[in-house]
Amino acid sequence: MFSEKLLLLAKESEKDLSEVFAEIDRIAFKNTEKVMSVFRENRLSDRHFNSTCGYGYNDDGRDLCDKMFAECFGAEAGFARSQIISGTHALAIALYGLLRPNDTLLSVSGKPYDTLDDVIGLGNSKDRGEGSLAEYGVKYREIPLVDSKTLDLKSIREALNDDKSVKVVFVQRSKGYSDRRTLTVAEINELFALVREFEGVYLVVDNCYGEFTELDEPKADLLVGSLIKNAGGGIAETGGYIVGTKRAVELASYRLTVPGIGLEAGASMGTTKSMIKGLFFAPHVTAQAIKTAHFASAMFERLGFECYPKPLEKRSDIIQTIRLYNAENVLKFCRGIQKGSPVDSFVVPEGWEMPGYNDSVVMAAGAFTQGSSIELSADAPLREPYLVYLQGGLTYESGKLGILTAIEEMLDK
Ligand SMILES: *Cc1c(COP(=O)(O)O)cnc(C)c1O
Repeated sequence: MFSEKLLLLAKESEKDLSEVFAEIDRIAFKNTEKVMSVFRENRLSDRHFNSTCGYGYNDDGRDLCDKMFAECFGAEAGFARSQIISGTHALAIALYGLLRPNDTLLSVSGKPYDTLDDVIGLGNSKDRGEGSLAEYGVKYREIPLVDSKTLDLKSIREALNDDKSVKVVFVQRSKGYSDRRTLTVAEINELFALVREFEGVYLVVDNCYGEFTELDEPKADLLVGSLIKNAGGGIAETGGYIVGTKRAVELASYRLTVPGIGLEAGASMGTTKSMIKGLFFAPHVTAQAIKTAHFASAMFERLGFECYPKPLEKRSDIIQTIRLYNAENVLKFCRGIQKGSPVDSFVVPEGWEMPGYNDSVVMAAGAFTQGSSIELSADAPLREPYLVYLQGGLTYESGKLGILTAIEEMLDK
């Protein structure tokens, strides 16, 4: 199916990556061990998969699922719910839960993910900020990373000393759609230690795409993510999670539902099993996606494109950025990824104005779960410098097939 030349290139790339792949397998094993011991200690049983409806009071399975997510992430408390529609929704729940009028939200990894613009109420968003944190009187400040690489701990400390209105320090672990480095767990833990010195200040971490890429998750007051990315293992059909310290999780729970109810209600409607099964698969599936990212990096570097991270560089998220230099390459690449997908392989992606994003975006996603980016997918805002963000791969084999198909699409025409 593929040319001999391309297959030889793939073989060479995999040879270069053999040690990297062995380390990824080691991390997946350790993380699976951790998840399984949480299941065992909590005596997970088939009765926990029962469905509830209506208010969903006394849903043992849902409560256990909440508890096990927290424990797998090394947190005191937390919840994982199907009523959370996306990562953005989960992040909004966390922020609205903790912030009050006249408080300041301090983002310390530069500008947060695009979809949070309208949540925070940033000036450049299309809607005029109705319902945003800004409309509720929450102020916003940001501190960029130093050289798009590391946290500016000195400026963060100064800001916390000088501005007592800062209630939430916000950090995004993954680079997302920005041209920057992904932060490691160790770096975020150092930030948490700093934030801890200031009483009444919370650290919120956007953990999207970072889950299970390292041996541990970051420490934070709230650690937030989506279940149609790493943490759902490709099994959860929808949902998000928020885990962290007891107090912060309690405040967030009042925004998930309402004050006075918090986590005590919310019918699971048969979703508990897929969320827990997803948690079981998450370390393995994340490893498949990371291998796919390394493979893409190795292949495209050989073909003369700039890749971030580099093929052998250690990862703290599943995103691979490839610089394709022009819109035509971006479209061809995305069309190739789409063609190499298990679902909707016949669809031809075009650029579109996606709700929540401010530039035209091309997306390739032939996923079993709509929009799931733990499944092989590519997104590219159609703007300079024409970076394409590739992520996912439920199995390494299918991820590799997708990359090879994309390369053929690009070289053919
Ligand atoms: C995906 C993502 C989000 C938003 O998640 P959605 O599920 O798309 O709403 C936020 N931050 C980062 C870093 C992400 O990767």
